[in-house]
Amino acid sequence: MKPHCTDCASCAIRHFEDAADYRKRFIVQEQIDRYLPGGAHFIDEAAIAAALGNAPANDTARVRDILAKSRAIETLLPEETAALIQVTDPDLLGEMADTALAIKKAVYDNRIVMFAPLYMSNLCVNRCAYCGFRAGNAEQKRRLLSMDEVRQEIDVLAGAIGHKRLIAVYGEHPDTSTDYIAETIRTVYAHQVKSPRGAIVGIRRVNVNAAPLPIEDLRVLKQVGIGTYQVFQETYHRETYARLHPADTVKGNYDWRVTAFHRALEAGVDDIGMGALYGLYDWRFELMATVCHARDLERQFNIGPHTISMPRLEPASGTDVPTTSPYLIDDATFQRIALITRLSVPYTGIIVTCRESPASRDTCVGYGITQMDASSNIAIKGYSDFASEQHQEKDRQQFVLSDTRTLEQMIAALAQRDIITSFCTAGYRCGRTGGCIMDALKTGKEGKFCKINAVLTLREWLDDFASPATQALCEPVISRELAEIETNLPKFYPTVREHYDRICNGERDLFF
Ligand code: SAM
Ligand code: SF4
Repeated sequence: MKPHCTDCASCAIRHFEDAADYRKRFIVQEQIDRYLPGGAHFIDEAAIAAALGNAPANDTARVRDILAKSRAIETLLPEETAALIQVTDPDLLGEMADTALAIKKAVYDNRIVMFAPLYMSNLCVNRCAYCGFRAGNAEQKRRLLSMDEVRQEIDVLAGAIGHKRLIAVYGEHPDTSTDYIAETIRTVYAHQVKSPRGAIVGIRRVNVNAAPLPIEDLRVLKQVGIGTYQVFQETYHRETYARLHPADTVKGNYDWRVTAFHRALEAGVDDIGMGALYGLYDWRFELMATVCHARDLERQFNIGPHTISMPRLEPASGTDVPTTSPYLIDDATFQRIALITRLSVPYTGIIVTCRESPASRDTCVGYGITQMDASSNIAIKGYSDFASEQHQEKDRQQFVLSDTRTLEQMIAALAQRDIITSFCTAGYRCGRTGGCIMDALKTGKEGKFCKINAVLTLREWLDDFASPATQALCEPVISRELAEIETNLPKFYPTVREHYDRICNGERDLFF
């Protein structure tokens, strides 16, 4: 591996020159074309514009028909999503919100899964106009984590805070490509630490947010146990995409990016997470295109996105795009996107991160989102340098976080709303991924595992990390969930109870 540089300006220039070869290796035209047979593209801008233009506003009967389809856990057609986008009537919006929450309960039960981001590197050969990590941004201090540093971050994340699942984030750079990603994943899984009360704990699932990769590289990540492979399209609108991502960069190739999941599914990485970066272009178009993307994966592979994220533009160092874009959205629009996403792709998990304010995230919980992060630090080496402080340093992080609540505060806040926090990582370890998880989600079978694993993993966290006050807040939630399992899942209950009691007696990592 080349030595990495500490001087940000020269790093960006030196590695950008190296990037010409990198770009040649990374964009394999044949691995784009095979997913766009006959040149037909699943993101059809004219069709999306027509669907939006033709959708009637506030057609109650039609909207109710569409909601019935969502309740049946069927992905909506673009024109159906368009009809939901056009709703402004408060009563109809209320029906949509009730339906969204009911769907979330049916598919994922009453739980929110917690995770944390871990930024591995901010070296990047691309020049995305809105991102603090872009090459040439002299305000950014460049670094990548060594494996020792990865372990130090895990000491805090798993050992002090109690996280069990991560989203590992990487800039796109020859020094931090597939080999580095694989090495960091292996390092995280191998590192077991002690909680303050002496339990052996570790990270059980590493999801990855990284650049699109060729099929061969994705197979390597599959082998080392990647969880969800997350790639955000940023904007599905070609003209906007071209303006924000220079054509001479790897990321400048729209089709290489938009076919990233097709390659992943072909490589056996069958747990994928998509998202548009809201604020770059018209949110209605982005939401429609996200649904078209999901539908094409379902059509070609019978597998849709396990998660849809809703990143939104945040202020970042060295760029005014996040503050001057004409497409920035307000909180109410953001929440509406969460709601319509839940209804449009009813089986998917929805992630809302600490980019959003506490109030807005709390509202989204009521619209059926499924995953949140907490105690997050997105500075490179931020967890070990600042321990549990909610400290932010603009020159070594990508953007600035809005919700700085700790994991413990989040768990307590959710418990006060009778929502159980889950640290479940069972799905992929039991082989419930890809087509198997799709079926389980659509038929409501996965929800019962969600419920059981939420109880077992929250029990672990309470015993290993919680203050007495948080324990007291969560005990009634756990008791209620156990009682519901006894009533609604009587066949499972004896084994659940046995696992639960073993966890209370100090055993760890028991799951369904
Ligand atoms: N480098 C890889 C890539 O671009 O796909 C992955 C890592 S990149 C750090 C992760 C995501 O951060 C990007 O896909 C983009 O959506 C998001 N992002 C970049 N700049 C942002 C900003 N100013 N505000 C919010 N999100 C941003
Ligand atoms: Fe690099 Fe990703 Fe940031 Fe673009 S969004 S500059 S590819 S880290």
